[in-house]
Amino acid sequence: MILFKKGKDLRNWLETQQTNKKSIGFVPTMGALHAGHLSLVHKSREANNITVCSLFVNPTQFNDPRDFEGYPLSPEQDIDLLEEAGCDAIFMPSVKEMYPEGLAISHAKHYELGYLENILEGKFRPGHYQGVCTIVHKLLDIVWPDRLYLGQKDYQQCMVLKKMLENLGRDTKTAIVLCPTMREKNGLAMSSRNLRLSSEQKDIASTIFSSLQWINENLRAGVDTSKLILSSMQKLETAGLKPEYVEIAKASSLEHVDRWDGKEDLVVLVAAWVGEVRLIDNITNFQS
Ligand code: AMP
Repeated sequence: MILFKKGKDLRNWLETQQTNKKSIGFVPTMGALHAGHLSLVHKSREANNITVCSLFVNPTQFNDPRDFEGYPLSPEQDIDLLEEAGCDAIFMPSVKEMYPEGLAISHAKHYELGYLENILEGKFRPGHYQGVCTIVHKLLDIVWPDRLYLGQKDYQQCMVLKKMLENLGRDTKTAIVLCPTMREKNGLAMSSRNLRLSSEQKDIASTIFSSLQWINENLRAGVDTSKLILSSMQKLETAGLKPEYVEIAKASSLEHVDRWDGKEDLVVLVAAWVGEVRLIDNITNFQS
């Protein structure tokens, strides 16, 4: 496994690989790796000759400075885990390397994301998806992967990046591979931010998944979804969480669904605070 800190060096190395017709899988992460991240690396290894993983906590996607300051870091452990997982190359740039002109100027390009930017995560985290697009675009310009591995846990992010690739005309060059959400035994979606939770808070946070499952069990064709949304918000509050949203939406567009026709593919999404930590989760695959 090779560790790169400069984009130019990684590009040069990948140039040789791509000239030799090696396929490239790319797993962008913000580090503090867990089994969810590693599942993406494993998926990439199955389908590509070369797997590249980036470790970079991207300042421009944090709308809340406290979240950025408190974001967990474990670079040495991340490197060991990636080596064990059979990753071929790690990209671990500095902020200066990714934003040589400074954060404000580099962040000035606007990505056209339509309504996706203003709903759910976009609404509660203004500017977040512009920051995500900025960094992923920069990383893609270095890696030029055949496949980009993303976790379903960040469902809306996957949709945003799909749109960005389409807008850039890159969707034919780079395919997005959506990977299932890995969970703790109690159902809590694995997340780097879980490191900031006490064990009691982890128990509380598991209510996010149980309330998603509760919706899954109670969602029937024709049912008024607002009642289910309200009840699950109450369940979350009773458990000690502060929910920001619970949404039942079309899986293809994230458009709100009032009454399900029993056929449309759905996604149910939650964002909620446990103490100082904001968590998100979602589930798909509903059956009438
Ligand atoms: P992050 O480091 O949180 O930015 O995540 C990097 C990538 O890993 C993103 O594509 C995430 O969606 C994905 N990811 C994060 N948590 C999980 C999980 N529990 N299961 C599967 N993929 C995940």
